[in-house]
Amino acid sequence: MNHISNTTDQWQQLDAGHHLHPFTDSKILNKNGVRIITRGEGVYIWDSEGNKYLDGMAGLWCVNVGYGRQELVDAATRQMQELPYYNTFFQTTTMPATELATVLSEITPEGFNNAFFSNSGSEANDTVVRMVRRYWDLKGCPDKKTIISRDNAYHGSTMAGASLGGMAYMHVQGGLPIPGIVHIGQPYWYHLGGELSPDEFGLKAALELEAKIKELGPDKIAAFIGEPIQGAGGVIVPPDTYWPEIQRICDEYDILLVADEVICGFGRTGNWFGSDSFNIRPDMMPMAKGMSSGYMPISAVMVHDRVADVMIDEGGEFNHGFTYSGHPVAAAVALANIEILKRENIIEAVGSDTGPYLQARLQDLADHPLVGDIRGIGLIAAIEMVKEKKTRSLFDTSGDAGTICRNHCLKNGLIMRATGDSMLISPPLTITKKQIDELVEKAGRCLDLTANDLGIG
Ligand SMILES: *Cc1c(COP(=O)(O)O)cnc(C)c1O
Repeated sequence: MNHISNTTDQWQQLDAGHHLHPFTDSKILNKNGVRIITRGEGVYIWDSEGNKYLDGMAGLWCVNVGYGRQELVDAATRQMQELPYYNTFFQTTTMPATELATVLSEITPEGFNNAFFSNSGSEANDTVVRMVRRYWDLKGCPDKKTIISRDNAYHGSTMAGASLGGMAYMHVQGGLPIPGIVHIGQPYWYHLGGELSPDEFGLKAALELEAKIKELGPDKIAAFIGEPIQGAGGVIVPPDTYWPEIQRICDEYDILLVADEVICGFGRTGNWFGSDSFNIRPDMMPMAKGMSSGYMPISAVMVHDRVADVMIDEGGEFNHGFTYSGHPVAAAVALANIEILKRENIIEAVGSDTGPYLQARLQDLADHPLVGDIRGIGLIAAIEMVKEKKTRSLFDTSGDAGTICRNHCLKNGLIMRATGDSMLISPPLTITKKQIDELVEKAGRCLDLTANDLGIG
């Protein structure tokens, strides 16, 4: 790199001059100066000024095995030396692509025996849209095209991904959603449950799916898509009654069920997949992020035999795919990553040890005057700040408390992301109990500083 000896200041100027960042107000960023992350080890990262942070977000929900894993570096190096690239289009494959498809079929639930590869969660969800519609065409139901999703869902940022998502602020830019995608309400009891118990509200939220199917006609509905836990929307853990009712409705009306495992997959909830934790029986599972722990971009749609058999036996050519579908270097890294998750029993630890420990420790913050709700499972959680705890009333301008708290976190060496006034936690799955103590203590201190700024407590 030509600019390796630059100062932070010089990097910031180059970045401001030349780099448009995702989901960013560039004018504000360019004025304030970007943070430059230079190094990672375990659950910690460092910036160009030498500040150390506990990465409570595992990058962007993805660095499941932690930073600095030489094994993943070696897997990439070996594959790059042997064969840096070949495609999987023209009656060919590479060994890592085939092996990864095989290993994925072993770790996913019964009946998932086929993988379609792409490079990001968004592309996986684009693949879902195309495959779902193709499937119903082949079944002789070409009108079954509409996909039902939920408000405040996150399914990516391509045209199809953003359309499947339920982020209103994304839809207003660029005329989304695309046709054939509709949304129902989300199972967010804390905001929407009113006087209902969580279980009553979970049923009510699920029944919105049935009402929407009846309104549009079951012969028009192709699929329902949902994250087992909504991640970017604020770590929304549905009530226990929600998924069983969604499952019943999809079965009854012959609607494909798509579980977006991009965050929940690869151990986040204490099982291999969120579908395992919530007893969901999906027909397709898009997955990405933790699949390679973010070391290389790679994603897959795992396809249940119910769908795959039709696609294979009756489908002829499926006119879809990417230059880098099953990229051998990314696949080799994903294989090494899955090997680490297995060998170190990381997912078992999340399920029975570190996950329950994080959730219990977070409850120590429940009495804090700012904290309205603490929710989570395994190593994913949210701390939601409210104006008044008793009435669950939110701040007038959502996001201010979140922004204040996030900035305190950064100053105190902790990365937590803010969605509205919820502080999100999703650390590397390798985090130790001692490091969880550090995370919770820092989070508590930053909540105090936030309360102080807001004149609360
Ligand atoms: C991040 C995410 C995506 C999009 O993945 P990209 O790799 O950013 O395209 C899709 N679904 C869920 C649930 C996600 O969290």
